[in-house]
Amino acid sequence: MLNIVLFGPPGSGKGTQSSYLIEKLGLVHLSTGDMLRSEIQNQTALGMQAKSLIDQGLLVPDSVVIGMIEQKIEQNPNAKGFIFDGFPRTVAQAQALDEMLAARSLSIQKMLAMEVPTDLLKQRLLQRAKELNRTDDTEEVIQKRIQEYNEKTLPVAEYYQKQNKLHRIDGVGIIEEVFNRILDALQDYLK
Ligand code: AMP
Repeated sequence: MLNIVLFGPPGSGKGTQSSYLIEKLGLVHLSTGDMLRSEIQNQTALGMQAKSLIDQGLLVPDSVVIGMIEQKIEQNPNAKGFIFDGFPRTVAQAQALDEMLAARSLSIQKMLAMEVPTDLLKQRLLQRAKELNRTDDTEEVIQKRIQEYNEKTLPVAEYYQKQNKLHRIDGVGIIEEVFNRILDALQDYLK
């Protein structure tokens, strides 16, 4: 089994690269952002609670996303592996993920950290706002999301570095170029 954490700030290309990886490797894609947007669309109680936080660029509580991820792992007992996209975003989430995987004799093999300069992130997110109509892709909210990332999410990279699982990926360039860098990083697992 190959379990990968795709890590990086908003706009670093996690979603795009996840879809390439799924196509190539047949892994199950677990994006907490997508799950939350689907809860909002279905107007569930959880979705309604999450919406105001998301629209302010703030993280939703750890317990909410940890519960959603555990449910999805449970629902996919025969998966060849998982790509965690946008999760974990706090050290508490990373610890909870390790625990829920260990309980199933599983673990994370690699954490791929996409690196993109902040100016380019903002540019990409504003462009995406025009294409996808996401309510959290306004200039003010983008600023807040990047701040949340720097304060709460960056320490997650250190968490995986201590486990020797962190691999930095230069996220600047065309999609295929970045994807090839990811495949290089996963070489040992693709044989
Ligand atoms: P994303 O699509 O991954 O950029 O996520 C959109 C928004 O959903 C984020 O700005 C957060 O408000 C929320 N969110 C997604 N994943 C998480 C997570 N793992 N922990 C907390 N909040 C999350």
